[in-house]
Amino acid sequence: MDFIKAKERIEELKEIIKENNEAYYVFDSPKITDFEYDELYRELKRLEEEFPDLKTQDSPTQKVGGNIVQGFKEHTHKYRLYSLDNSNNYDDLRKWYERVKKEYPNESDLDLVVELKIDGLSCALSYENGELVIGATRGNGIIGENITQNIKEIKTIPQKLTKPINLEVRGEVYMPVTSFERLNEENIEKGIKEFANPRNAAAGSLRQLDSKITAQRDLHFFAYTAISEDKTLFKTHYEGMKLLEELGFETNPNYVLVKGINPVIEKCEYWAEERFNLNYATDGMVIKINDLAKQNELGYTSRAPKWATAFKFPPEEVWTKLEDIELSVGKTGAVTPIANLTPVQLAGTTVKRASLHNFDEIKRLEINKGNEVLIKKAAEIIPKVIRKREGEDFGVYNAPDKCPVCGTPLIKPEGEVALYCPNTLGCPSQIKGKIEYWASKEAMDIDGIGESIVEKLYEKGLIKDFADLYKLTINDFMTIDLIKEKSADNLYSAIQASKNPSMTKFLTALSIKFIGKETADLIANEFPSLENIMNASYEELIKIDGIGEKAAQSIIDYFKDENNKIILNKLSEYGVKPKGSAFEKTSDKLEGKTFVITGTLSMPRTVFEEKIKKAGGKVSSSVSKKTSYVLAGENPGSKFDKATALGVIILTERDFNLLFEDNN
Ligand code: NAD
Repeated sequence: MDFIKAKERIEELKEIIKENNEAYYVFDSPKITDFEYDELYRELKRLEEEFPDLKTQDSPTQKVGGNIVQGFKEHTHKYRLYSLDNSNNYDDLRKWYERVKKEYPNESDLDLVVELKIDGLSCALSYENGELVIGATRGNGIIGENITQNIKEIKTIPQKLTKPINLEVRGEVYMPVTSFERLNEENIEKGIKEFANPRNAAAGSLRQLDSKITAQRDLHFFAYTAISEDKTLFKTHYEGMKLLEELGFETNPNYVLVKGINPVIEKCEYWAEERFNLNYATDGMVIKINDLAKQNELGYTSRAPKWATAFKFPPEEVWTKLEDIELSVGKTGAVTPIANLTPVQLAGTTVKRASLHNFDEIKRLEINKGNEVLIKKAAEIIPKVIRKREGEDFGVYNAPDKCPVCGTPLIKPEGEVALYCPNTLGCPSQIKGKIEYWASKEAMDIDGIGESIVEKLYEKGLIKDFADLYKLTINDFMTIDLIKEKSADNLYSAIQASKNPSMTKFLTALSIKFIGKETADLIANEFPSLENIMNASYEELIKIDGIGEKAAQSIIDYFKDENNKIILNKLSEYGVKPKGSAFEKTSDKLEGKTFVITGTLSMPRTVFEEKIKKAGGKVSSSVSKKTSYVLAGENPGSKFDKATALGVIILTERDFNLLFEDNN
């Protein structure tokens, strides 16, 4: 590129970045994704490096972004706040490390701390004699907004430290993903514009002129830097983090001390995948030199420290075209729309399909074939559609009125959003779905019986429901192409071996509407036999903690239905009988206590589950206010964060074992 073209492009980029900075920092409402922004920013940086004469003081590459919203008092920071240089590839990370190593060639002397980059709003807190005196946003790094009143509404920020010291604390205010989703749902109901992501929701909630609004929002704080004039308090970043924890702050538990760049890259790779299981947004990793003396020696550029860098994860949101809307009919007859997309790279994988949930969602998104849509990677395998490109109008996709598989007119049960095909016994999609689900890992776990075999057995007329699996012979399997005697024998044996499942597996496998593995488990634990469950009244079912009205009614309806009775009788004739209550109570030590288990423990989870149930306790798969304890092993997932956020007691395996000791 020649000088003139570069000058034009630089001016253009500065203008676009300035506009987007305003949307992001002032209005908390970005118009482009962070990935797109970072691409523009990197292009500008590259051009300025190539044409240093074109680099000006007012360039966004030379300053920290963030303005002051009118109405807030300005606060001049005692210590300047910086941004972070970042890259999105490991080569750049290695180059940064090489630069640092030039200054400190002795690797054994060079400790690094690797931590998650929390995608929230950075805040500076000042404590005097242990009392919180000021809370401020970063602003341009020199002057921020004084938001002390709002900061005081965040419960995870201590107003008084456990020691009467003077301290500056830096950290990130964030909103848990579940709270962000709830807030957006409420906003949709009220007709208020949704927040684009948890970061913007946190920023929008914190920078409210009325602190009463902030108080209503679920905001949290992870502290990540301590600054003190007393140099005896801590000499490394890691010690600073430990001090913050001692003083009453929450730090993100995933920071580690390492030597060399390879373990840094391993951590980046690990969290690039695992981040989707966290209940807060993270957009990368931060790598910091541990020793504060070395940090001082390395110093800062006008915008960022030289002693730290960030690695940005591949984007979790991208734009692509909605090519078509495909309809899938599930095992319970629910018709689900799925977006077929122009293939696009998202968080490291090629994505062709995204979830649209239901037809109300399509109406809300106002989308149709042809629209450009923003898709986001979610914890589930299939990503979701977030919104369409503003200003585009292709009309709204019409919900079908007939089942796309069997043509039966669809129904919408009262109080439900989903459309259903009522042809439970005749719709091939529902029949095959139920058989596949019966054999799946989550249900009866019959090895080898998956989608393609079910399809072939069904097409040949060998099975019409899941009970029919038990009448199949080895010869039946051998009528299917490519299945030889050995595999036929294995399939037959796997089916026969599944005849005596646990009550939970059996109930789950029946595909009763609203009854998944967890609800099935709650019911199985309450009744000693299948007969008891079949005869249970609505009142008995609703009494069970965790069973709602819909689930209770669904159980009643299922066992009343004559067609279901036929299948249950067939199962019984073929010798399929669930075991009675597997967990006979031996004490009531944990009576009334509900546990949630997360992370890797020293023994399989079932061992712990059994121990809890034998002592009269309950095991649930999701954390709520009703959870008594969370048993956390290594690398706990989002349940751990939710438990921390709700203040639920967290037990290590050792604490857990203590519960069973006699003096407890
Ligand atoms: P940044 O967010 O990339 O990195 C610096 C910030 O990281 C720090 O200020 C701090 O708040 C935060 N951080 C989180 N965890 C941390 C930890 N453990 N240790 C230290 N710091 C931690 O930089 P920035 O200057 O705040 O913002 C620039 C970024 O914001 C862009 O890269 C882009 O992703 C986004 N942005 C997007 C738009 C848009 O229109 N989409 C516009 C402007 C900015």
